[in-house]
Amino acid sequence: MSDSPTPVSGSKTRLPTRRRALRWLFGGSAMVGAGSWAKDDWLTAGPGWRGPVSDHFDGRVFFNPGLPRGDKSWIDLWRWRLSGGRERWPEQAADSGRLPVAGTPPAPGRDGAVTATLVGHATFLLRWRGLTVLTDPVWSDRCSPVTWAGPKRARPPAVAWPDLPPVDLVLLSHNHYDHLDLATLQRLEAHSRPLILTGLGNRAFLAGHGLNRVVELDWWQSHAASGAQVTFAPAVHWSNRGGNSRNATLWGAFLIEVAGTRVYFGGDTGYGPHFAETRRRLGAPDLALLPIGAYEPRWFMKTMHMNPAEAVQAHHDLGARRSLGFHFGTWQLTDEGIDAPVLALAEARAAAGLTEDVFRAPGFGERIEAFA
Ligand SMILES: [Zn+2]
Repeated sequence: MSDSPTPVSGSKTRLPTRRRALRWLFGGSAMVGAGSWAKDDWLTAGPGWRGPVSDHFDGRVFFNPGLPRGDKSWIDLWRWRLSGGRERWPEQAADSGRLPVAGTPPAPGRDGAVTATLVGHATFLLRWRGLTVLTDPVWSDRCSPVTWAGPKRARPPAVAWPDLPPVDLVLLSHNHYDHLDLATLQRLEAHSRPLILTGLGNRAFLAGHGLNRVVELDWWQSHAASGAQVTFAPAVHWSNRGGNSRNATLWGAFLIEVAGTRVYFGGDTGYGPHFAETRRRLGAPDLALLPIGAYEPRWFMKTMHMNPAEAVQAHHDLGARRSLGFHFGTWQLTDEGIDAPVLALAEARAAAGLTEDVFRAPGFGERIEAFA
């Protein structure tokens, strides 16, 4: 699953009990893929990272520097799920019938303009100056370690797969299932073989699944490709993909610069000092993509996901000219209602005196052109 501690041990003989428990924990309701109970990467999440100790790597696992290493326990997870605060999402959102948006793929912007289209959750299609980028691409129906349970889409991907233009770069923020989807990455490999940029420790795992055009980066490391300069930057988060993989690979955000225009993709993150630090070290972005959903209950989620008010603060810390929200309205991962992040963003924006044009949640499939 995405951001809950992943149950790991056991054998197939214990499956019925575990299956029931997983369905309950993941909030899934349907059983699919009965012949195969788990995706092929379950419990084989790769060897992780071996490298020198740093301010965010202790020689074995990564951590968020300056913050307590308070991993959530099974007891916390049960306390949350028993608390009864979960809003009910519709099976399909009201605009689902209009998705995917029909017609041609979202076109590149004029001259220096960046076009951004929210495909769903953390997947943006970005195009500018001949470059096409996807962030955390997921076209699959569920984000889950198993094929038969787990969050199911409340909206289909807003860009139909046949409309997807050739992709130059994929920015992969971390290995949680709602951000790293092997099925989609393998489809992309056959589609246009993009270069994948990601955090330390993910390359071996991806190579083990036939994805060999991968560059892994530490925080503040850069890589030049397709006319873009891409820098991996810190985020406050964690990683896990089953087995002993907890925090064995690095998570982060990206700053991508093409011909002087800078776009920041925040990945998955709690609020922290890293936004101001990123601005100090890399400069203020023209466009910031900031996560605004999966934040309730705060006592559980605060250390991994911002709420909209914190995202507005992050927008200020980064000094972004303009921001767009994401990480909402696609899979129910947490307690808040499907539209709550968009409403809370409007409130936080008003409280901060910002106009809607400066920071809003894009419509799914909406083509937004910035800086024409
Ligand atoms: Zn995550």
